[in-house]
Amino acid sequence: MGIFQNIKSVSGFLLDQVIPPTCLSCTETVGNSAALCPNCWSSLTFISEPFCQTCGLPFDLEDDDNQVCGPCLKKTPPYSLMRSSLIYDEASRPMILSFKHGDQLDACPTFAKWLATADPSMFHDVDVVTAVPLHWLRLLKRRYNQSAMMSNALAKTQNLGAIPDLLTRQRNTASQGHLTRNQRRANVRGAFRMNPRYQAFVEDKVVLLVDDVLTTGATIEACCLALRNAGAAEVRVLTLARASSS
Ligand SMILES: [Zn+2]
Ligand SMILES: [Zn+2]
Repeated sequence: MGIFQNIKSVSGFLLDQVIPPTCLSCTETVGNSAALCPNCWSSLTFISEPFCQTCGLPFDLEDDDNQVCGPCLKKTPPYSLMRSSLIYDEASRPMILSFKHGDQLDACPTFAKWLATADPSMFHDVDVVTAVPLHWLRLLKRRYNQSAMMSNALAKTQNLGAIPDLLTRQRNTASQGHLTRNQRRANVRGAFRMNPRYQAFVEDKVVLLVDDVLTTGATIEACCLALRNAGAAEVRVLTLARASSS
């Protein structure tokens, strides 16, 4: 194994000499591959406390009385906790989109590292790491599922088992960009099913679900419900980025 790793790192080194690596987010040349230039790095907003202890929504002010946000108090979400590494904004969007659409696949280990540090306590007792699935038609077109790639890389850093296809996507749901929150909910209702191969496995398990971006949470909640209905004891959610308000 050592020799292959050496060959890999030597070839990576040689490649870096021929084509200098560019920033994960812009066209700036950087010293190492899978890195950000200082400008892009400093414009990212990593999420830190205070945030809702359930859904991870960032709070503006430190307030000891409010550990949990209003919406979570009103209705218990189908996950036990959710965390995200970054705010989804002008600074993080280009980097995440170019990973999603294939030009920056080498960002994966860097993203896995950021996911791992969002809230290390959430890996405790996790039985399996999984991802929000793509419909097979979209998977064919895009060739890979960016969330499954991240969930595999993250699981490796935590010595956890990964089953990226624990869930299947039944319907190739329309793009959700232009839909309201309620329309998004309706759009994904029933779109996710437990993969029958893992039906017995998932019972009483603690599942960690990984996705790239959280917007309204409709997709993630539909996935959590499918896992809970299949018998999962608990679902936790980790996303690379999230909108700053929900
Ligand atoms: Zn840059
Ligand atoms: Zn909340």
